[in-house]
Amino acid sequence: MASLGWVLNGVMSSGTGVGVTTDSGDGFRLVGDYLLAGEGGGVVTPNGAVDVDAAGRITAVGSVAELGDAAGSVHNVGGLLMPGLVNTHAHTAMTLLRSAGDGLPLQDWLTQVVWPREGQMTDEDAHWGMTLGSLEMLANGVTTSCEMYFFESAMVEAVQNTGGRMVMTPGVVSALLPDGDVAPRIAELAELHQRYHDPAGRITVGFAPHSPYDLTPDQVGQIAAGAQAVDALMHIHLEETEAERQQVLDAHGKTATQLLADVGALEGRVLAAHGVWLDETDRRLLIEADATIAHCPMSNLKLGSGIAPLASMLDEGLRVVLATDGVASNDNLDLWEEVKLAPLLARGAGHDPGAVDAVTALDMATRTAGEALGIEVGELRAGAWADVIRIDLDRPVFAPGRVEDLVSHLVYQGSGGNVTDVWVAGEQVIAAGKSTRVDQAEAMAEVRARGHRLAE
Ligand SMILES: [Zn+2]
Repeated sequence: MASLGWVLNGVMSSGTGVGVTTDSGDGFRLVGDYLLAGEGGGVVTPNGAVDVDAAGRITAVGSVAELGDAAGSVHNVGGLLMPGLVNTHAHTAMTLLRSAGDGLPLQDWLTQVVWPREGQMTDEDAHWGMTLGSLEMLANGVTTSCEMYFFESAMVEAVQNTGGRMVMTPGVVSALLPDGDVAPRIAELAELHQRYHDPAGRITVGFAPHSPYDLTPDQVGQIAAGAQAVDALMHIHLEETEAERQQVLDAHGKTATQLLADVGALEGRVLAAHGVWLDETDRRLLIEADATIAHCPMSNLKLGSGIAPLASMLDEGLRVVLATDGVASNDNLDLWEEVKLAPLLARGAGHDPGAVDAVTALDMATRTAGEALGIEVGELRAGAWADVIRIDLDRPVFAPGRVEDLVSHLVYQGSGGNVTDVWVAGEQVIAAGKSTRVDQAEAMAEVRARGHRLAE
């Protein structure tokens, strides 16, 4: 009957999670039965602790024995402590459009279902859509998302309310540039960057030209130059579908990636979503540019876009990270599903059970994802933000629970359902599965009413 194999420090926290931790002013220490710092090797530390200062940064990580006495209060929370996950490509306010247009090909889905509804959206709709989506991510242990969307101020305000962390990359689409002049939107983006970009806080800002098929190469080049001028991340869709690849080849005689290189768009920091249809030459250009691919395996499957060659990308040295994409093509924001699906797809497609190991899969949703976004998250180390999640190990999926199998248990259980508590910048934003800040029932009621209205 003893299921206490995980419990080392004598705290058998209940399956529902822990109480709200408070900071005594000198910072505090979180102690778990186990700690997965996520520094790349998948090393699990028994009786591990994270010391957090009053500013929400980590000051030390290690076993309790190594760390010695804590400066501030000590919270013995049990379970497994690890970095929050980082969702690198999302359109989270699309919770208002969840499951819309199932079965349509990408272009029809966008033009017949998604864009008509988004065209009627208000700031307040986006606010509630983002609020609910942010709560869903946080409850699943996803502490950061990189958002490509409009309604920027409403998006920022929603995340400021929930306590999550966001890289907001305001979108640029041709439909909103009536005379094709992209300069006014670039000026707006620069202004948004100035207003909201705060590396010392929880919001940073990038620039998001929608894609090389929607915008002209010249427009993308101008937006990229705007991003580079302030050293901001450029976030773009790239080669999601075969039809889109062909469309760009037909129009320009070059691949989308080659076009990006030609207009200087690969010279700054680049995050490209999907990359399903990139060829080897494209991938080499992206590697030379130190660009990142946000791999969205669930969305790519649901929209029938294909299977990105993840194993080849990683073997070649391309930086690949994981993402949910919007919930209309997923249909949830639980990034743990991608953590499981990415290695499984790579193995199935390549007939190779050794492709993409569990440590790599988790790393693509934590440490490498933080690195791609240029923020100090995804790894528990001194100096990084204390974006920490607690996993309840007293659940069936973590039995038998040999320490050497813990990362595999985590990756292949495939769900955020075992996350009980979440801290962002040292602030506990989820306690025992519930937001400490926002009324989820209210957000659900708002999204229900607004989602129905948009669908009419
Ligand atoms: Zn997308």
